[in-house]
Amino acid sequence: MSRMVLRVAQIVGVLLLAGLAISVVVGLVQWLLGAALIVSIPLGAWWLYRRVKARDGARPAVTGRPADRRSELESRAVIDAAGRCGWCGSAGLHKDEFGFPVTPLTYHRAEIDAML
Ligand SMILES: [Zn+2]
Repeated sequence: MSRMVLRVAQIVGVLLLAGLAISVVVGLVQWLLGAALIVSIPLGAWWLYRRVKARDGARPAVTGRPADRRSELESRAVIDAAGRCGWCGSAGLHKDEFGFPVTPLTYHRAEIDAML
């Protein structure tokens, strides 16, 4: 009878040790996952920041030239020193479809946009 109790106690001890080992392993894995998560959040944020910054840095290089072209064309659609339109050379005031005087820039807006 004592042998049986000893055997049961042995099994219980082995099971307890196994459970302890499993819980240690699980705890270690959880800790590693947590640590990986904690490390990956700032790393991911930094990576995203780099991606966004690189894209922002590349954008003006692509759109910078059309913007320069636009301002260059718009600077031509002004009344020059002789009172003429710098865009079409007309000496008269530009008028819209209602007969109201408009600036050369407004009047030639569609042509400027078409040339961009
Ligand atoms: Zn004009």
